[in-house]
Amino acid sequence: MKCFLPLLLALSLVSCMKGKSVDLVIHNARIHTMNNENSIEEAMAIKDGKIVEVGPERQILNKYSADEYIDAGKKDVFPGLTDAHGHMMSYARQLLSVDLVGCKSFSELVVRVEKYSQAHPSGFILGRGWDQSLWGTDVLPTNERLTELFPNIPVLLHRIDGHAALVNQKALDMAGITPETNVTGGSIAVTEGRCTGLLLDNAIELVSKRFPDFPKKDLATSLQTVQQELLQYGITGVHEAGVEQKDYQLLKRLVDQNKLHLDLYVMLYATEENIAFAKKSGKIKHKNLIVRSFKVMGDGALGSHGALLKQPYTDDVHSHGLLTTSAEDLQRIALMAESIGYQVNIHAIGDSTNRLVLDLLVQIRERNADHRWRIEHAQVVDLNDFELFATTGAFPSVQPTHAVSDQRWAEQRLGTDRLKGAYAYKTLLNQTGMLALGTDFPVELTNPYLTIQAAVNRTNADGEPIGGFLPEEALTEEECLRGMTIWPAYASFQESRIGTLEKGKEATFVILAFPFRIRTEFESNYAFKVFIRGRERYTSE
Ligand SMILES: [Zn+2]
Repeated sequence: MKCFLPLLLALSLVSCMKGKSVDLVIHNARIHTMNNENSIEEAMAIKDGKIVEVGPERQILNKYSADEYIDAGKKDVFPGLTDAHGHMMSYARQLLSVDLVGCKSFSELVVRVEKYSQAHPSGFILGRGWDQSLWGTDVLPTNERLTELFPNIPVLLHRIDGHAALVNQKALDMAGITPETNVTGGSIAVTEGRCTGLLLDNAIELVSKRFPDFPKKDLATSLQTVQQELLQYGITGVHEAGVEQKDYQLLKRLVDQNKLHLDLYVMLYATEENIAFAKKSGKIKHKNLIVRSFKVMGDGALGSHGALLKQPYTDDVHSHGLLTTSAEDLQRIALMAESIGYQVNIHAIGDSTNRLVLDLLVQIRERNADHRWRIEHAQVVDLNDFELFATTGAFPSVQPTHAVSDQRWAEQRLGTDRLKGAYAYKTLLNQTGMLALGTDFPVELTNPYLTIQAAVNRTNADGEPIGGFLPEEALTEEECLRGMTIWPAYASFQESRIGTLEKGKEATFVILAFPFRIRTEFESNYAFKVFIRGRERYTSE
């Protein structure tokens, strides 16, 4: 027997060296686990789409034998980033529509629409992205020129924030809108007895619900383009902030066809059709698609004077803005959602709307302390109301790039005193302990490094404003990264699966192309590779 001993020893050494078999090992990396200790590790073993272990280089390489090894060359690895408030469907449509982002004048808008219509002869023109605050006058536009140029096809041009739209006469006729038409939670601009074509908030829906749509196959291709754009930055999850039933069905089909890999947390608009669907289906977890929440529009936007303020607008003393969903409807939707276990995420920009929602959450909190109901934007909050965020358990979902975009006119709309409670991310975080960060794309660009720039430096890509906008409300780098990883996971009840790189969680992560660092001067980063549930879904190679 003695003579066999060395052989046995050698055999057992070989099997030991071989190690436990896994699918993939990432090593020689700087793995930002985003766990409670915020530890940084060197290597990670992955099997069946999940993380088996994260730890020091030698420990992981000695212990595991993988089908594939990736030497990350000391690159930074983060949990896949989440955009906690985006609009994939709107963006997909925008990519097919006339792009009005950055128009410097109304004449430029007209030229772009004309060019588009020549290149895309179809029965309608849809556009998005104009912003009259860039035209020097800040005067909202009227439709005479569009009606003259396009007498026979409907034209619908959304403002950048989606809360105002300009339509031609054909579109007004199609929707049956006259100067006498009444709409609650919106308004139809009328001058000298005729509609000017400008519609605010709920009035837009009168046109959009009758407006033709792009073919499904074009929307599907466009959605995949959006997915590709998000992946290039390392974004692996989107909280889709409001869809109709037909859009939900399209997203589901693409998930079934294995064409959309992102973690999609889809909020349903609280329409009668969606409510009936939710009551019938309950909470849905279908592959990488989750539906268990409603999106409700509390008010309009600050840019178009549609956000509901306690005191009138500083630059329009006759206006307080408006509620787009009545207080009674908010209450009705909340009780219905609570009865079927759905989360409610309410868009609230003005201080009056935020207070209304916070009061509603007092009641919800009594029934369920861990409700995680969200206030989307939480943009202007009365200084006396901040502590209600802590007492109600409201989860703020905010978009730092809005702060640095709106800083051009925010003080004009709100005045100095009210500005103290606006875009107040640090104050909100101090109340709640967590924040979910997003971009609201396509209102803002999808690039998450612009969000980091806006949150940490409080400036835009051009470094404006100098010194930062309300710099006391800046987040730290770590808070910002948590706001894009583990906190949005909490905000969508997914923290046991995603949001950190820890044993047992899904192997959804990004290896960044460039070293992660924050400088005062904006510098974008990109993904070198992106893995979702253990599968490579993007590579820059
Ligand atoms: Zn939005």
